[in-house]
Amino acid sequence: MKGVEMPEINWDELKDLAIEAMKTAYAPYSGYPVGASALVDDGRLVSGCNVENASTGLGTCAENGLVSMLHRTGGGRLVAFYCVNGNGDVIVPCGRCRQLLYEHGGPNLLVTMPSGIMRMDEVLPQGFGPADLALVATSQITIDTPYALRESDAEKEKKDK
Ligand SMILES: [Zn+2]
Repeated sequence: MKGVEMPEINWDELKDLAIEAMKTAYAPYSGYPVGASALVDDGRLVSGCNVENASTGLGTCAENGLVSMLHRTGGGRLVAFYCVNGNGDVIVPCGRCRQLLYEHGGPNLLVTMPSGIMRMDEVLPQGFGPADLALVATSQITIDTPYALRESDAEKEKKDK
């Protein structure tokens, strides 16, 4: 991430995209469509909607589709995230999706919550992530991957710039 300029966050654009995504949700069982959108560190926008299934437990959250699109369109790191319900109102990511967002956005990801914009490490305090795996010698992941950044590392990186 060093030396890489962060794209400017257009929250209105993210909101519009989340609402557009919500309108494509497949939620015939719950009647609770969800749309999510995010800005990627290279300036791309990604989005997703929830997809339910007659076999109830197989339903997936909007964040699943969003993360799939992230990797499908070039990978990278999520910078800003927005999620809405069927009213177009901001909703919180569920517990499972907080873990998903932490993996792909890290502690610095900005998340729109009903109470305002929060950092991912506030949305998921002391989250378990790639850095925890890197602490074990037999792990395949190394601590220097951007995905393994902890808040302290991110702060240090900021100072080094
Ligand atoms: Zn979820």
